[in-house]
Amino acid sequence: MNGLKDAISALVEAKRDLFIGVNDKVWDCAEIRFAVAHSADAICGALTGEGFQVERGVADMPHAFIATFSNGKGPAIGFLSEYDALAGLSQAADSTQRRAVTEGAHGHGCGHQALGAGALAAAAALKDYMKENDLGGTVRYYGCPGEESGSGKAYMARAGVFNGLDAALTWHPFAANRSMSMSSLANYQIYFHFKGLAAHAAAAPHLGRSALDAVELMNVGVNYLREHVIQEARIHYALIDGGGHAPNVVQPQATSLYFIRAPKTSQVAEIYERVAGIAKGAALMTGTELTIEWDSACAEVIPNEVLARLLHEKMTEIGPFEVTAEDEAYAKRFIDTLSEREKARAYSSLIDMYGPSFAEEAKRIAAKPVANDILPFYSTEAAMPGSTDVGDVSFNVPTGQMGVACFPFGTVEHSWQWVAAGRSKICHKGMLMAGKVLAMAAVDLLTKPDLLEKAAAEFRARTADDKYRCAIPPEVKPR
Ligand SMILES: [Zn+2]
Repeated sequence: MNGLKDAISALVEAKRDLFIGVNDKVWDCAEIRFAVAHSADAICGALTGEGFQVERGVADMPHAFIATFSNGKGPAIGFLSEYDALAGLSQAADSTQRRAVTEGAHGHGCGHQALGAGALAAAAALKDYMKENDLGGTVRYYGCPGEESGSGKAYMARAGVFNGLDAALTWHPFAANRSMSMSSLANYQIYFHFKGLAAHAAAAPHLGRSALDAVELMNVGVNYLREHVIQEARIHYALIDGGGHAPNVVQPQATSLYFIRAPKTSQVAEIYERVAGIAKGAALMTGTELTIEWDSACAEVIPNEVLARLLHEKMTEIGPFEVTAEDEAYAKRFIDTLSEREKARAYSSLIDMYGPSFAEEAKRIAAKPVANDILPFYSTEAAMPGSTDVGDVSFNVPTGQMGVACFPFGTVEHSWQWVAAGRSKICHKGMLMAGKVLAMAAVDLLTKPDLLEKAAAEFRARTADDKYRCAIPPEVKPR
C-alpha cells in the first residue's frame, strides 16, 4: 500500500483524457521555435480550466507563460514544459513509412508534445492533491517555447522568471525509463555574415571581393583551431547562405551558422573569442566585411543528484506501465524500420552507461520492443554530448530531470519514427507516468523540508564558484 502513489495515480487517471487530448492537439499543431501560438493556446486553456492563473507573454516571448496555483504558505515548485516541434519533420501518425502529412511542414520528433502534456498532468494532479490535503505551497507550470535551437528558457532565466522557486522538475520523453544526475554542454549559436563585392567572375574578377571565400577561409581556420581546444569541445557549422547559384558571379554575401559547445559556459566563451578572431582574419584576407550576429546560447546543466534520486525513487514506486501485446506489436513495426547497426546501438548504449556487468539485464531489456523497466540510477560528473536550455534554469534553481519511455526501444530523438509514434498508446502511457512521478516528487518536496534543504545545499555547493550569467547579450531578443 502506497498512499501517495495511489492518490496521485487516481488524480492523474481521473483526467487522463484531458492530458491525452493536449498531447494530441500539440502534436497536430507541430509549431516550431517561438511561433507556437496554437500549442500554447491548448496548454494555457487546459491550465485555466484547472484553475491556474496564467500569465502569458513573459520574457519578450508571446507564447512563453507561467501558470500559478497557490495554496497558502509553503515552498514553490516549478514544472518545466516544452511544446515546440522540429522543422521539416512532418510525418503521418502511426505510419511505419517515412511519409509527410504536409510536405515541408513540421513534426514532433523530440516528443515535446508529450513533455508539455506530462508536465500539465503533474501540475494539475499536484494542485488537486494540495487542495484535497490542505497542503500549503505554490505550483508553477513554466511554458517554455523554442527549446530546439532557440533556448527559450535562457531568455526566461535572463528575465528572472525562475527567481523565488525552490525546485524545478522536468522530464523528457525517451525510449527507456531513466533518471540521471548528469550535465550537458554549454552552447553558443552565432551567425557569421560576410559582405563582399559582386563582379563578373571571368571578365572582372579583380573587382570582386568574395564573401564565400571568407566563409571557406574561416572554416579552414576553425578546423586548424580544433587541435588546440579542449577535447570535450564541439564546433560545428552550417552554410546558411553560399552567396547565390551562379559560379560566374563573385559571391557578394555569405553566411555560416556556428554552434560552439563545451562543458562550461566559461570554456565556450573563450573558444568563441578565438573563433571570432578567425572570422575577423578571414574578412581581412578577403577584403570583406564581417558582421557577427547572435542566434542564442544556453548554459550547461548543473546536475542535482538529490532531485534526480528523488525522481528515480518515485519512478520505482510507480513501477513500469503495462505493455499490452498490441503495444508490443506496434513498437516492433517501428523497430523493424531500423538498420542492424541502429538496433545494436540500443543494447550497446546500455552497456556504455552501466558497464559490462549489466550485459544480461541489457540483453533482456533490448529484446523488448517497449523498454518499460526502470533502469538503474545513473550519476556522472561528465557531460552528455548535447545541449539543453534546462541548463539556464538549473543555474538558478535546483533542477531535477528524468527520461520516461514513450517510444519503441532503439528509436532515437529527432527521428520520423518518434513523430509517427507521438500519438500512440505507448506515448500516452509514458506521458501519464511522467506526470505521476513528477507530482509525487513534488509532494515530497512540499512536505519534507529536509529534502528540499539537501537539494538546495547541493545547488549552493555546485554553483559556489560559478554564478549564473546569461550568455546571450542583453540586446539580443528571442526570434
Ligand atoms: Zn527535446
